[in-house]
This record gives sequence, structure tokens and C-alpha cells, in this order.
Amino acid sequence: MSASDNMPIAVITPRAKPLLLRHLPYFIGAAIVVALAATMSFDGYILNILMQATTFAIAVFGLSVVLGLCGQINLAQAAFFGFGAYAVGIGTTDFQMSYWLCLLAGCVMALVAGAILGASTLRLGGHYLAMVTISFQQIVTLVMINAIWLTHGPDGVGKIGRPALFQTQQSYLAFCVATLALIGYFVWHLPDTRLGRAMRAVRDNELAAGVAGIDVFRTKVYAFAICAVLGGLGGGLFAGGFAYISPDQFSFAESIVFLTMSLLGGVASPIGSAIGTGLLILIPEWLRFLKSVPGLYLAIYGLSVILIIRFMPDGIWGFVNVATQRWRAKARVHAAGPPLQLAPGKVGGEIVLEVTGLSKYFGGLKAVDNVDIAVRRGGVHALIGPNGSGKTTTLNVLSGLYHATAGKVMLDGTDITDMQPHLRTAAGLGRTFQNIRLFRSMTALENVVIGAERPGNALVDTSEDALTQRAMSALAFVGLGLRANELISCFSYGHQRLIEIARALAANPTLLLLDEPAAGLNSSEKLELHELLKRIAAQGLTILIIDHDMTLVSEAAQHITVLNFGRRIADGESMAVLRHPDVVSAYLGTE
Ligand code: ADP
Ligand code: MG
Repeated sequence: MSASDNMPIAVITPRAKPLLLRHLPYFIGAAIVVALAATMSFDGYILNILMQATTFAIAVFGLSVVLGLCGQINLAQAAFFGFGAYAVGIGTTDFQMSYWLCLLAGCVMALVAGAILGASTLRLGGHYLAMVTISFQQIVTLVMINAIWLTHGPDGVGKIGRPALFQTQQSYLAFCVATLALIGYFVWHLPDTRLGRAMRAVRDNELAAGVAGIDVFRTKVYAFAICAVLGGLGGGLFAGGFAYISPDQFSFAESIVFLTMSLLGGVASPIGSAIGTGLLILIPEWLRFLKSVPGLYLAIYGLSVILIIRFMPDGIWGFVNVATQRWRAKARVHAAGPPLQLAPGKVGGEIVLEVTGLSKYFGGLKAVDNVDIAVRRGGVHALIGPNGSGKTTTLNVLSGLYHATAGKVMLDGTDITDMQPHLRTAAGLGRTFQNIRLFRSMTALENVVIGAERPGNALVDTSEDALTQRAMSALAFVGLGLRANELISCFSYGHQRLIEIARALAANPTLLLLDEPAAGLNSSEKLELHELLKRIAAQGLTILIIDHDMTLVSEAAQHITVLNFGRRIADGESMAVLRHPDVVSAYLGTE
């Protein structure tokens, strides 16, 4: 491992072409499709199907962002679709406003509604989110039906206008297809942007995302708002396309249809969303000949959807993706940056971390009880104690995963006691977990880039290229620079641990918290780890480490704090602490 520190990692640095140039083929393809939509002669029936598929697909793209990328459920996409549709519907008829203004208004309304709904419920997550979005959907439906003075109620809105530029059905379709292509481009590239990476991190492991410096809540709200605005946009286009809308087109059942479309095609990608949308619109058409037998049509329709989802749990595109993985080109090679520098942030006083009177109670259980810890700058400080003595709980309180029952935590002069995890990380705290928490659907490099993206990481250049370089340097530092583009599942347990450390190091923390880094490693992996820790300490990074390995602790740490039953039973210079009679009896039972 040591040999690889300064080894050149990859020789090729493909000079990244500007994004738009690199994706010229996409736009050429899209232009051809738009031209076909504008010029081919369709009969009215086909035009309608295409119009529906195009506008629905935009709304389904929204679900691929919120559900596929960020892992949050939205069962009210039809309601957001309705916001756009009614804005265009009512706006262009009753208020005689410009189509463009109405479309914009619909998108803004959907965006605002989505952001408010998200901001008020996304802290709940899971089932609550599902229930709240269903309720929201029902409320919107009720308003559409009953606010007759505004929405015309069950009669719906007719004679909806279109922009002067796209008066014919076919030119309007071409306009919708162009919009779809543009939105598709953004949704396709979102996963590789900073926001998209944050969304994937939140989906993969919310706790780790927070600790890696991502504002989990805000990321979810953004995803939800993007989903809503795409719903609104699709709805606005839909209204113009069909010139007539009514409340039943935006009901809960339609929200389920949107969801099924995204799951069927493959929620993780816009291609999947498009496939699912097309298929779910076409299957009923293909089964039209069965409509003479009541019920049979629905049964076959339902059955085919169930079968597809049963045998392709990641959707059709997910299935194709896995099947063709072998033939696809290898990921881009990244050059390593300069050897990793762990520049400890601002240099304050001698004590980097000052914990006073820290307590954490779980009901009656005092997991951590009035503990004081002072970690000196540039040193290795060990936190030891028997199993269940409160070590991990202490770290969880320090990194903000638990709220302290009492006490105060100062990091480099900043009071972080009440901060959220990502803000503590921004303030300079880095950590690893006892049970490894990596973003499992991402490559090693992407995991570490998320670390490098920490706000306030003291990097001068925070461009995408610089962050990637920083991440490559961190991976090289732990000896995994050559495997940057492999998925987490390809790595042994020991190497996953190293990736987790690299993620923390890439963030350039002031203080690194390590929770039993050697747990679960075999003896050669342990040796590698010890060697790595020495190299980290040699750079002057301050470390607070929990470990059971007394050889490691006595070798590496200058200072030791011992916990037992949540209380601090010893603290001080290593050798003295290890000989302390209370420590000996806590570990061995007797003196
Ligand atoms: P250590 O890391 O020193 O082995 P922990 O900090 O994990 O110990 O646990 C300390 C005590 O707190 C244990 O008795 C454990 O059962 C309890 N504990 C830890 N986390 C929780 C929790 N989330 N809820 C209730 N009890 C907990
Ligand atoms: Mg523990």
C-alpha cells in the first residue's frame, strides 16, 4: 500500500470538452425527432396518443428525480400536473392571458406548492410522506370539483388556447417534444451534478449523507420541488394540447398511473420513465379489441403491469441496463491530483475539541453520563471502554446524530452543541462509522467526491475538476487510487473502510472521529489500517479514535479517555491510564 502513495494513478487526462459539445449527438438526435414530429403526417388518433405520451413523460421525469434519485415518494403528481393544466386552462380562457404567461404561472404555482408541501413534511419521511401527499392530492381534487366559480367544477374547462406560434395540433406537438427533449437532457445529467449526487447520497444513506456534509432536508425539498415543477410543466402543455380539461384527469388514480409509469420503465433514469410512459399509454390501446368483454381488458392490463414489475424490479430500463453493462464503455479515467495534503483548517487554541458535562439518556438508560473530553490539536486521542460503555453514543452526539441530553461541545472555538450534522461537518468535523456507511449505488470516487464537496473545506478551487482531483488524491492516499471507478460492492470490507476514511479525509476536516476502524478487519487489513492511521497522524491531523486494540491504542494515542457504563472513569496520558487500577478492573473484571 505504501508504494502506491505517490504512484501516478492514471496517465490519461481526457481534457473535458464543454458539456454541450460532448452531447451534440443528443441534440442532433432530438432535433431529428422534433422535425419528424413536426412534419410526418399522423392521423388525429396517433397525434393524441403522442401528445399525451409527451406531456405525461415530462411529469414522470419529475418522479424519476424525486423517487429515483432522491428516494422520496410523491403520490400527488397528478395534482401538480393539474396546477399547470388549470393555470393554462383558466388563464387562457376566463382571463384571456397569454399562453406563455399562464404556462409560467402554472409552473410557479406547482413549484411553490411542491416546495411548501415538501418543506412541511419531508422531515417526516417514509409512510408519513406518502400519506401527506395523498391528502394533498385529495384536497386539490376537491377544490377542482367544488370551486366552480374558479375551475368550472366537473364540467371542466374547454376551448383552451395555444401560443400563436404553435396553433396547429402538429406544430404544438413538435413544441412539446422539443420541451421533453430539453427536460430529458437536464434530468439525464442531474445525477452527475453536485445536487444530483447529494440526492443519490440521501437515497442511499441518509445518516451518512448528513455526516458527509450534505443538507439532507434541503436536498429533499429541492428534489420534491423539481418533481412538482415538472408536473406543472407537463400539465400546462397537456392543457394546450387537448384544449379541454376536467378534474378526473388529475385525480389520485392518475397519480398512481404516473407512479406506475415511472416504476414500470425504471425509476432511476429518464429513459426508463419515457419507456414506462409510452408503454402504459400504449398497452390500453393495444388491448382495445378486448373492450367488448367488460373486465377482461382491465385484468390483462393489470396483469401485464404486475408481471413486468415482478420480473424486472428495477423496471424495463434497469433490466436492459444490467444486461448490457458488459458491452458499455468503461468509465472515464481520472488523473490523480497532487499527494493529499491534510491542511488542518484554522489554527485556534491548543484544544480542538472540548466536551463538557456531556450526557445522553435513552429513557432511563444513561448511555453517556456527564463526560468531559479535551482533544489536543495534532494528537491522537483514544476513547476506550468495554462494550456498551457509551463510546459510539458519544460519537453520535458529537456528530449530531443524537441530541445531547445535557452538556456542551466546542469545536475549535465554535459551539456546535445544537448544530445539525451537516453544519458540524462544515465546521470541520469528519467521521467514520462502526458499521460502514457508504453510498452503495455509487462508485468509490463518487463517494469520496461527496466528502470533498464539504462547504468550507479550505480548498481554493472548488470546480468539479478540482474536487474530483482532491477525491482522487484521497483515494490514492488510502491506496485505492486505481479502483476509483468501481462500485462499492466490488470492494472487500477492509477496503470499504478505507474508502470511508478517504471520504472523511477528502473533506479536509479539523478533527477526524473514527469509530472502531479495525472492527471486522482481518489481520493484514488491520496492519494496513494502522499504517494508514500513522500517515494521517504524521500530517498533523487531530484524531479521536475508538478502538479495542490495545496495541494500536497504546502505540498511536498520546491521550486516552476511558468510559464505563457511560461515565468517564479515567483520562490522561496513555501509559498512566492503561495502568490505572479502575481501567484494569473494567477490562479484566479484577485487578
Ligand atoms: P459502545 O459503543 O461503547 O459499545 P454504545 O454507545 O453503542 O456503546 O451503547 C451504549 C449504551 O446505550 C448501550 O447500553 C446501548 O444499548 C444503548 N444505546 C445505544 N444507542 C441506543 C439507542 N438509539 N436507543 C436506546 N439505547 C441505545
Ligand atoms: Mg460502539
